[in-house]
Amino acid sequence: MKLIFLGPPGAGKGTLAGLVAKELGIPQISTGDIFRDAIKRETELGMQVKAIVGRGDLVPDELTVSLVRERLARPDAVKGFILDGFPRTIPQAEALEGFQKLDAVVNFVISDDIVVLRLTGREVCRACGAIYHVRNMPSKVKGVCDRCGGQTYTRDDDKLASITNRLEVYKKQTEPLIDFYRERGLLRDVDSSTTPEDTLEGVRAVLGRKG
Ligand code: ADP
Ligand code: ZN
Repeated sequence: MKLIFLGPPGAGKGTLAGLVAKELGIPQISTGDIFRDAIKRETELGMQVKAIVGRGDLVPDELTVSLVRERLARPDAVKGFILDGFPRTIPQAEALEGFQKLDAVVNFVISDDIVVLRLTGREVCRACGAIYHVRNMPSKVKGVCDRCGGQTYTRDDDKLASITNRLEVYKKQTEPLIDFYRERGLLRDVDSSTTPEDTLEGVRAVLGRKG
């Protein structure tokens, strides 16, 4: 299946993309993870995007599109993929349409209030990228990843000023994609205001899969 996961920051896209990708045996392609990894490894791409990502602004479309295009051309993505965090603008969606067919766009629906509560408190493993939450889903030992023993931390862009900016950027730049994909008959809404388990059930349902 060729899928896009769409939704505001904090909707749980990343967590769900990981779960569903595993279930379907297809890669999760997260542009946010690609950028963070490049920043961590201090590659040329990383240097280019570090300040932008830290502020919660968007990386230029051209750069992002060419990155995704290359990634989708790799053999593991031929039979399916989940795009997590891409496209994020109308120009990105139009570019994608030019070279890639899709089966569905899963749209994670959630209120602003819940999003802010979730994002303040999110922690990510430096080593494996696993996501925790100090209140909702803490790691067993504070600061230590359950999955790999790595160190967890708060992303720069999960600090309050950046969170507010990311939500604004989402509303302005990304929300118009909902209509873009609805018009194409691809949009599938899933309520993501409760638990990851319920949301996973919701995703299975809209993709026509039993749990
Ligand atoms: P979120 O938790 O906000 O969904 P992501 O991990 O998807 O965050 O992305 C983190 C940051 O990486 C974004 O705030 C943005 O700076 C950059 N980024 C990720 N995907 C894109 C994209 N498709 N276009 C432009 N910038 C992107
Ligand atoms: Zn880890």
